Amino acid sequence: MRVLGLLGGMSWESTAIYYRLLNEGVRARKGGLHSAPLLLWSPDFAPIAERQREDDWSALTEQLSRAGQHLKRSGAEALLICSNTMHCLHEAIEQAAEIPALHIADATGEALQRAGCKHPVLLATRFTMEREFYTKRLRDLFGITARIPDGDARIGIHRIIYEELCRGIIRDESREHYRNAVRRMQTEGADSVILGCTEIAMLISQDDIDLPIFDTTAIHADMGVYWMLD
Ligand code: GLU
Repeated sequence: MRVLGLLGGMSWESTAIYYRLLNEGVRARKGGLHSAPLLLWSPDFAPIAERQREDDWSALTEQLSRAGQHLKRSGAEALLICSNTMHCLHEAIEQAAEIPALHIADATGEALQRAGCKHPVLLATRFTMEREFYTKRLRDLFGITARIPDGDARIGIHRIIYEELCRGIIRDESREHYRNAVRRMQTEGADSVILGCTEIAMLISQDDIDLPIFDTTAIHADMGVYWMLD
């Protein structure tokens, strides 16, 4: 099997889910005592979130690029950036590390395409919803038009990710906030929902939402499993 390097810890709550899914995926396909050959970089998330808030993306590019290089030197043959948001640095990290970084939006775009969904609601951090790197990739490579909740809804969706989900806090009111945002967009023609932040599946499952949901953590982990076994 090929060795996968995880840029994790953003937050560790979702990296723990990745770790389980990657190992379960390998066991499901290879059986017995087989498990995923992984290397994990898992930093303190507080200063990273602080830099995101301050829009200091160049410091983050440097930090994650170094981490990617470190994983490569340690034997990783490809990277998995375990955060949708941090895919805004995908190209720079991939170039610095000189190994492929399996893109979470590509895995998601392929899954949406297979299901015939073209107008998903994108639930994610403010960075992923408002900056172009994610929605543009879905549009350009997969012909998918992601729909972004309105300003007030976005503020709540973003706040819940950093103040609750990344701290392991699950609240019914927050689930309701997400459900209401989706309901409003369903009446405007949305046909599916992207859980476009790797912690959201801790809060929302298919039972909570009428439209088909696409959990980026599970979809991305699956891409990683296929890559390791290829
Ligand atoms: N895990 C997150 C994501 O998928 C948010 C935390 C972060 O990396 O900023 O976007």
